[in-house]
Amino acid sequence: MAAITPRRSFVSSLPFGCDLLDEITKIARREGITLGRLQGIGATSRAVVAYYDQETRKYLPLEFTEGMEILSLMGNISLRDNKPFVHAHVTLGDRDGKVFGGHLMRGTVVFACEVFIEEFEGDERVREADETTGLFLWKYRE
Ligand code: ZN
Repeated sequence: MAAITPRRSFVSSLPFGCDLLDEITKIARREGITLGRLQGIGATSRAVVAYYDQETRKYLPLEFTEGMEILSLMGNISLRDNKPFVHAHVTLGDRDGKVFGGHLMRGTVVFACEVFIEEFEGDERVREADETTGLFLWKYRE
């Protein structure tokens, strides 16, 4: 467990038609956010999320081509390869209120999205390949 301190906070409405993951990554890199928390709501015109198969250690993509509500976008920003890296999960709702979700992938197109990003300072988190899970996880530092 590491103590961190809030620093700057950002609010943004993302542009229509942008790639959700790319746009948040762009903000994080432009502002130099190396440790952060992300939350947002909105809608997508196309969405790609993935389920991580623990057996095959592969991300299995799921694609939604109809408009979906972003009921919850949450994630974090940390360092991977010395650059701010966004890890986000998203819960999407369809016209019947059915809910789907997963690990946010590139290819998710924003219809509208209102995002808050909180930056922290203190113990930075660095992603490294983890042999046990096959994922890039925060290096164990405690
Ligand atoms: Zn994930």
